[in-house]
Amino acid sequence: RRQKILAHSSGAGRTEDGVAVKLLLNVGAEDPGESAAHDCEGVGLLRTEFLFLDRDTEPTPDEQYESYARLFRAFGDRIITVRTLDAGSDKPLAFVAQGEEPNPALGVRGFRTARALPGLLERQLAAIARAASDTGAHVRVMAPMISTPAEAAEFAELARAAGLAEVGVMIEVPGAALLARQVLDRVDFVSIGTNDLAQYTLATDRMLDSLPDLLDPWQPGLLRLIQEVGTAGVATDKPVGVCGEAAADPLLALVLVGLGVSSLSMSAPSLAAVRYALARHTLADCRDLAELALAAAGPAQARDAVRGAADDEV
Ligand code: PEP
Ligand code: MG
Repeated sequence: RRQKILAHSSGAGRTEDGVAVKLLLNVGAEDPGESAAHDCEGVGLLRTEFLFLDRDTEPTPDEQYESYARLFRAFGDRIITVRTLDAGSDKPLAFVAQGEEPNPALGVRGFRTARALPGLLERQLAAIARAASDTGAHVRVMAPMISTPAEAAEFAELARAAGLAEVGVMIEVPGAALLARQVLDRVDFVSIGTNDLAQYTLATDRMLDSLPDLLDPWQPGLLRLIQEVGTAGVATDKPVGVCGEAAADPLLALVLVGLGVSSLSMSAPSLAAVRYALARHTLADCRDLAELALAAAGPAQARDAVRGAADDEV
């Protein structure tokens, strides 16, 4: 089986009937050269927090520029999706501390930080735009923790004003998933963050180890929200990606594609197995598997139903 997976472990992602599903990499503080050496079609999530960690002050525009440009150069003409700073809650940063919040996951975090620290987001977008322009790389930007279509519009305006042409937002809040069509009308693409979307959909703190079944990305309620977003993506002909942990599970990746997702971003070790799973199923198969998962009573039942119906090799 390992041999078969390796035989399919190169090239662009596609289903058995040839439908393209981009296989992208989640990147953080890793060495850009090492990241770019992986067999992927680009970066689906650059977590820019790594630049801001362990320091008391904001990195200067030049520091940011250098770091982005190094990564952009390493990836050549492959697509690079840069997420703007996602501070707060599970990613506390010293210099953006807003004082005590009773519920940090529901507080000033992600895109909301822009309200508390005017100029921070604009400076980051300017550094990204300058690095994109100087390297000629295919760069797109997205904001984390967008909750409403109005916030999506606000971010799109800021990013376009900075000179960035391809602008998206993350869907990690149920309110945004439910209004995916209105969100997509205001941006060029969306990327679903299943880690946070699971937390907010199932009302379960992602930092807890004690409730794994509720945080399980196979939860049919979570899949139903993803379907909402995937359907809006198909209707508007705009890309819908997944960059949370769910994308790294080969069986669940099939379900996501069946729900309308067109790119999957994950850490490097998962790429080959997901590529192999896609190659053994048609888009129609993926849609059938998605129906089975949506109809299940819980995550274990959803996983079992899909495992029973999918190709035995996956
Ligand atoms: C997510 O929430 O699924 C996601 C990809 O972002 P992070 O895990 O960095 O919050
Ligand atoms: Mg998130």
